[in-house]
Amino acid sequence: MIKERLKEVQENIVSAKARRSPDKQQDVLLIAVTKNHDIHAMREAIDAGVTDIGENRIQEAKEKFETLDRDVTWHLIGHLQTNKAKQAVKIFDIIHSIDSLHLAEAVNNAAANIGKVQKVLVQVNLAKEDSKSGIYAEDMEELLHKVDEMPNLQLMGLMCIAPNYEDVEECRPLFAEMYKIFNRVKEMTFQTANILYLSMGMTHDYQIAVEEGSNMVRVGTGIFGPRQY
Ligand SMILES: *Cc1c(COP(=O)(O)O)cnc(C)c1O
Repeated sequence: MIKERLKEVQENIVSAKARRSPDKQQDVLLIAVTKNHDIHAMREAIDAGVTDIGENRIQEAKEKFETLDRDVTWHLIGHLQTNKAKQAVKIFDIIHSIDSLHLAEAVNNAAANIGKVQKVLVQVNLAKEDSKSGIYAEDMEELLHKVDEMPNLQLMGLMCIAPNYEDVEECRPLFAEMYKIFNRVKEMTFQTANILYLSMGMTHDYQIAVEEGSNMVRVGTGIFGPRQY
């Protein structure tokens, strides 16, 4: 089941890429979001070709990280509390959810303590939803520069979560706007940042996100089916 669904998602990504303008970069990285799915499901997905997994809670990720006997890249896609930074840097290759100076400092310190340079994305709250984390676009530049200056962080790009519109097409202008912002950030002058990733798109909207220029999608339900809580 997981294998078939994964194949379908991969094919949808290929089709979505074919529909976009040629100026957009070809590669799109699929992150399989395994939150609330067990280690067996994770192994099955990895054995079917998944290379990158996403988790949103530290405790759950830690248990899986200690159990999983497979080599994969770990992405933290959920909100991070500063008091969990220490654990987060031990597990995750990329943290997508940096959205304040306070959090950036905590992650930088935690990474310094274990001698790591932590790859991070800055999360942007483009639609200014109260229910979502992320920095507002107008405050983003300052944070990007501060993150860039921190010796134990490497800034790799931006992440966003679209609002849960009833009509998914409503996400399109937001994704298009994020892509513009991403291109502007790529043109900015940094010290160590390497702006490569625009992380946007989930099960219900990843095809639109890819059409509009996303190069990192985070798909859970589309691969594993509905989550049981
Ligand atoms: C859970 C989650 C996803 C995946 O959601 P699906 O709708 O199951 O694909 C993607 N991104 C974030 C930030 C999430 O928390």
